[in-house]
Amino acid sequence: MSPSVPAGKPVIAIDGPAGAGKSTLAASLASHLGLERLDTGSMYRAVAYAALRDGVDPGDASTVTELAHRVGIQVGPAVHVDGVDVTGELRGPAVTRVVSEVAANPGVRRELVRRQREWVAAHGGGVIEGRDIGTVVLPDADLKVYVTASEAERARRRAVEAEATAHGHDAVAVASDLARRDRLDSTRDSSPLAVAEGAVVVDSTNRSVEEIVEEVLKRL
Ligand code: C5P
Repeated sequence: MSPSVPAGKPVIAIDGPAGAGKSTLAASLASHLGLERLDTGSMYRAVAYAALRDGVDPGDASTVTELAHRVGIQVGPAVHVDGVDVTGELRGPAVTRVVSEVAANPGVRRELVRRQREWVAAHGGGVIEGRDIGTVVLPDADLKVYVTASEAERARRRAVEAEATAHGHDAVAVASDLARRDRLDSTRDSSPLAVAEGAVVVDSTNRSVEEIVEEVLKRL
């Protein structure tokens, strides 16, 4: 650990588009620094899952906001929604298709941002990944990282992931879903994906995670 690591547990914010390598980097940084991590994408996926489960139209902003307030979400290695382990469903095509619409809902964002800040306060720090962590959720984070990778590389990683999670492997569908989600996530009015002020920008294409971790840790 570098001697400049802040006293207490640091807060590390990681943002970037789908398939950029955020989770791999977050896991590696967390294990290097002995921190816990929070994947906020799983929280938006959990609300999208609950809407589908309850037959709620994902575009019905007020009903989905109410749902976001009352749904129980536990994010760890497994994700539980209202006490049920839904880890397998969360990355599947049904949730992936509607999650960006759910995440564009300002009422949903307000509630999940509140829970995310609560998580950080309860843990005294940690590695938090998402789309708006450095810009909105934790602008005073000790370290902000924006990870990206070429579109081809991001689509390739997501296709491998889809195959690994037994959700089928349709590379064309994965690539077009990524492009659509990136467009929605970057152009929405409420907390669009953007590089936070002071963020270290890392392109993970053709780079090993060890190399990136080393580069990022120098900035802490
Ligand atoms: O990271 P992941 O691909 O699981 O995120 C799923 C979706 O959740 C994103 O496409 C985005 O619409 C939304 N999201 C968000 N803000 C975050 C994390 C995820 O809007 N902090």
